Amino acid sequence: MQIEKVYEPQRFEPHWAQWWIDSGIFRASARAAGRVFSLAIPPPNVTGSLHIGHMLEHTEIDVTIRWHRMLGDNTLWLPGTDHAGIATQMVVARKLAEEGINYRDLGREKFEERVWQWKAQYGDTIKRQMVRLGTSCDWSRERFTLDPGLSAAVREDFVRLFEKGLIYRGEYMVNWCPHCHTAISDLEVTHADVNGHLWHIRYPVNGLKDQFLVVATTRPETMLGDTAVAINAKDQRYLDLHGHTVQLPLMDREIPIILDDLADPEFGSGAVKVTPAHDPNDFEAGRRHNLPKIQVIDENGRMTADAGPYAGLDRFEARLRVVADLQAAGFLVKIEDYPLNIGKCARCGTIVEPLISTQWFVRTKPLAEKAIAVVESGRIQFVPANWTKTYYEWMYNIRDWCISRQLWWGHRIPAWHCQECREIIVAREIPTSCPRCGATHLVQDTDVLDTWFSSALWPFSTLGWPEATEDLATFYPTSLLITGFDILFFWVARMVMMGMEFMGDVPFRQVYIHGLVRDAERQKMSKTRGNVVDPLVVTEKYGTDAVRMALLQGAAPGTDIVLTEERMESSRAFANKIWNAARFLFLKMEFSGVEPWVPESLEAFQPEPCTDTLEVPVEDRWIFSRLNSASEQANRAIEQYRYHEAAQVLWHFFWHEFCDWYIELKKLRFRENTGLNADWRNTLAAFETALRLLHPAMPFLTEELWQRLAGGRKDRPVSIALAPYPQYRANETNYKAEREIEILQEVVTLARTLRAESKIDPKLQIEGALYSRDGVLEVAKKHAGAIQELAKVKLDFHSDAAPKTASVRSTPQFDLVLQLPKAQEEAQRKRIEKECEQLKKNIENSKSKLGDEAFLSKAPPQVIETMRKKLVDYEEQFRKIGCAG
Ligand SMILES: [Zn+2]
Ligand SMILES: [Zn+2]
Repeated sequence: MQIEKVYEPQRFEPHWAQWWIDSGIFRASARAAGRVFSLAIPPPNVTGSLHIGHMLEHTEIDVTIRWHRMLGDNTLWLPGTDHAGIATQMVVARKLAEEGINYRDLGREKFEERVWQWKAQYGDTIKRQMVRLGTSCDWSRERFTLDPGLSAAVREDFVRLFEKGLIYRGEYMVNWCPHCHTAISDLEVTHADVNGHLWHIRYPVNGLKDQFLVVATTRPETMLGDTAVAINAKDQRYLDLHGHTVQLPLMDREIPIILDDLADPEFGSGAVKVTPAHDPNDFEAGRRHNLPKIQVIDENGRMTADAGPYAGLDRFEARLRVVADLQAAGFLVKIEDYPLNIGKCARCGTIVEPLISTQWFVRTKPLAEKAIAVVESGRIQFVPANWTKTYYEWMYNIRDWCISRQLWWGHRIPAWHCQECREIIVAREIPTSCPRCGATHLVQDTDVLDTWFSSALWPFSTLGWPEATEDLATFYPTSLLITGFDILFFWVARMVMMGMEFMGDVPFRQVYIHGLVRDAERQKMSKTRGNVVDPLVVTEKYGTDAVRMALLQGAAPGTDIVLTEERMESSRAFANKIWNAARFLFLKMEFSGVEPWVPESLEAFQPEPCTDTLEVPVEDRWIFSRLNSASEQANRAIEQYRYHEAAQVLWHFFWHEFCDWYIELKKLRFRENTGLNADWRNTLAAFETALRLLHPAMPFLTEELWQRLAGGRKDRPVSIALAPYPQYRANETNYKAEREIEILQEVVTLARTLRAESKIDPKLQIEGALYSRDGVLEVAKKHAGAIQELAKVKLDFHSDAAPKTASVRSTPQFDLVLQLPKAQEEAQRKRIEKECEQLKKNIENSKSKLGDEAFLSKAPPQVIETMRKKLVDYEEQFRKIGCAG
């Protein structure tokens, strides 16, 4: 029974991480017995590496998953990654740029090849990290959103929605880079603060002589495309103008005055120009009012023919000309300095131009109705429950979902355009000819789908849908989703919509929303703040188990998690404490000739009586009783996602009961014992049960120690991860034993406190006396030996009252007096004498004042009352210390 002196998790954690995979113990089977518990991982982006937020999420999932597995459930944790369209495309494009290659020059196919190469090389970083962190996934079922199977699911889903009329093409405003000549996503736009201007322009109102509406704009060249001026319905100044039109300067076009909230009465004059073709908000307003969209800037950033005399000019050159012409014609009211936030292309720095383009949409209203109903009926529960409200708010106001992206990396839209008749053919397989005109010149849509389109199908596409697989029948709906609040809409809501649409059932029954990991100052972790905690760095430093424990300790539902170095350090100390307890046991076993042993049945072990006394030792009865309540609390806490509470229970039990008391008491008993007797069996059974109780939180340490006790035995599970989780049994709480050990703990603790206060050498044996009655006295007498060993005090026992001296310390149960060493006794006597003298003076003072009529007539009543109370206190202390006189 060799055990290393120092707890070095780095020595055994990688070994078990690999062994868990090699032994296949986390592989699920659709045919296995037991209640089903399944969970699909929120797939991390393939581009990334794990950050501490992932580690929190994976730790919480792993605790729940390991717990269910130990409960005997048919447990599946399905892992995988997301292709993360835009993020991955940007990473690879940047890499190519470093090699001096513009990815656009490569062409679509070559570029896609490079991304797949990159994925093969770096794409399993997340997996390697998760394996190292001990996450108990079934890696045989690992999925990637661009797998052939998942891609087939995406096509099936798209075609079915299209056939039902739930997918359509429509106009949408995108960020356009006139230099890169492409639409770019919001993620690819960088924002910069600049000093701009606000131009105030007046538009003459038709039919009302000398009446004008003044509008203000930061982009005067767009006025050429104005199709309305908006005023707010609540703005009293302009109400009589509604129904009139204005004449657009320079273009001499008549445009309507509309009522719309786009106009803010507090901003500028309260009237705003509306340019639906060149501003996202104006685009929406244009939709509301059915306004024409006049595009005056083209995809090269030049003015179009619709810009009249300005056609062909660069958009910024046009701005100068427009301003000059407005001024010359007397339409320019004033120019103000104005701070601007402008969007630039992340790749080339060109200022982005909002342009209208044709995109694909999902009609979400009908899908959202079912998704709302299943939450209302409680078929899906959010924990904490307040997220339900957030979910409803979004779902009731849901807008159609733009699913097309002008990217190369992703699921290409399964639509083909007939080059002859413009027919659009949506199909599962590549069509050979146009069903409308018979032409064979068909070109596939160049867009790919939004990354969230494929992840919305994740809970069923990963189980084999659209095939009717055994996995799908067994593991869908999944039991639980654990995720962050930031993707509640992007992902969670869409999974519910798609699950209801394609499976006719919810994708999961519960959604646990976890918090953010913050630093010691409760700051969000970010690269710019420099307070990021790298999971691999801290797990190398403290051990995975310690970091898991530190995260769990802060993981109360509905709160953010504060992770500090101190917390990780103390968690490491906790692990070390357990290691030392094991080391004591193992060394002692070796010395006593005891072989590693665990009970035959791990379900229920009844502590055995000692052969010599025919009584189960009280510390054994006590520790099993404590294990029983710790089991009850731990099971309940994990079930309710109260991970912080589970951590506290395990910590308190293992450190403050098992290590601090049980092992210490056993040390005394084991002095005489040799061989595997009842004492040893009880101790090893308690230790083994405690390891199982701790396993979901600290899997590595517990596996390492458990294997030393039970490893290689054919009649036991191959891993602690497959052993049963300890359960509460009502008849196993032993109040008598708990009461007995409590008294022992109180006496020893008080004696230790007194010794510390009087600065007595901890190794010095001293004498003392305990005064109490009946039960308490009996228990203390019974444990006199243990008290003498643990507190280094040899006690006399008295059933009468304690003497009234200063050295008496009392609890509601007993009084305790310690005999101080000679020198300290003398000092103590002097201190008491002094104290008595002071008390005597205080008493005399108080008495004389309270007897003074003049004082009593002048002093406020509360002062007199306080003084009376003080006098009673002084006299009480005087008697208690035993002062003479
Ligand atoms: Zn660009
Ligand atoms: Zn055709």
